[in-house]
Amino acid sequence: MKRAYNFNAGPASLPESVLKKAEQEWLNYKGTGMNVMEMSHRSKPYEEIHQQAQNLLRKLLQIPDNYEVLFLQGGASLQFTMVPMNLMEEGKKGQYVLTGAWSEKALKEAKKIGHAEAIATGKDNQYREIPSVSSLKTLEDGAYLHITSNNTIFGTQWHETPKVSIPLVADMSSDILCRPIDVASYGLIYAGAQKNLGPSGVTVVIVRKDLLERSKDSLPTMLDYRTHAKNDSLYNTPPTMAIYLLKLVLEWADSLGGTAALEKINKEKAALLYNVIDDSDGFYKGHAEASSRSLMNVTFTLKNQELTEAFLAEAKERGFTGLNGHRSVGGCRASIYNAVPLEHVEVLAQFMKEFKSR
Ligand code: PMP
Repeated sequence: MKRAYNFNAGPASLPESVLKKAEQEWLNYKGTGMNVMEMSHRSKPYEEIHQQAQNLLRKLLQIPDNYEVLFLQGGASLQFTMVPMNLMEEGKKGQYVLTGAWSEKALKEAKKIGHAEAIATGKDNQYREIPSVSSLKTLEDGAYLHITSNNTIFGTQWHETPKVSIPLVADMSSDILCRPIDVASYGLIYAGAQKNLGPSGVTVVIVRKDLLERSKDSLPTMLDYRTHAKNDSLYNTPPTMAIYLLKLVLEWADSLGGTAALEKINKEKAALLYNVIDDSDGFYKGHAEASSRSLMNVTFTLKNQELTEAFLAEAKERGFTGLNGHRSVGGCRASIYNAVPLEHVEVLAQFMKEFKSR
């Protein structure tokens, strides 16, 4: 059976070895006679999975001990609400850097919870560029600064971490684990799993322990980070299947050599496509400015709409999936997350060259 050339933006490609391992363990997980989905979340085999997933994430991202690792539900979208609910402070504002549609949504939700504002925006330039770190305004009345580390729709990514005196919050949904990060530079990191970590259904939150003191007792129990921190993300039934698959993906990432090794492959994969774009004499036009280009989502259009459509139609015929740009912006987008094999990116680069020459 042939696997698709899967360039989906999320849910997205998973490592084939992970899917095979899940298949092997499908009917009888480690002699239990059950699928992981069929066992209690309070059972020993599940608790082990839960713990291993946490430990592996700690290892791969070198998460310091003064951070909690939480497995939540509701997607990254619920974090747009939970972050301000838990981190907002009296008389202070949630401050947001707008680098695309997802940061706009995060700000919109924060404004429903309390005071929040955009301190920089790339909208006037169609979100082609990440604002320079040095241009960010000072933040005397900020409760936290929120950034979107990778902009899935526009194909831009932060390549320098802002150094600020207030807690830095990052939505890393579409680039967590694509490269090493210094967790200590952040107050809170969140990421829906369905791009680089596993299937949809689980959201990872990494939060500095002292920030949990900001949460107020009036918060609904399930929306209070402290509930999940105190109960090791087992206050209620967690998404056990998603966490099991997360564990398998993390084992796979670890076996490859962790984030440094993944970054090296990701740079190689991204360069293959950006080089085709740059060497095409304007036949392919990249959306992002070169300095802000994403390692994960390569966005481009062709010379005109007719050619863009012809390219996408032919790509579909050849077995490429997910190359259409987000429905809000059109054009083309190749999402090349960790699990997309280098060989598949090579086939796409070759197809792009061939299409141009024809
Ligand atoms: N943030 C980013 C950067 C995303 O790419 C997405 C989903 N594509 C979201 C947030 C929303 O995630 P979810 O669907 O898990 O709520």
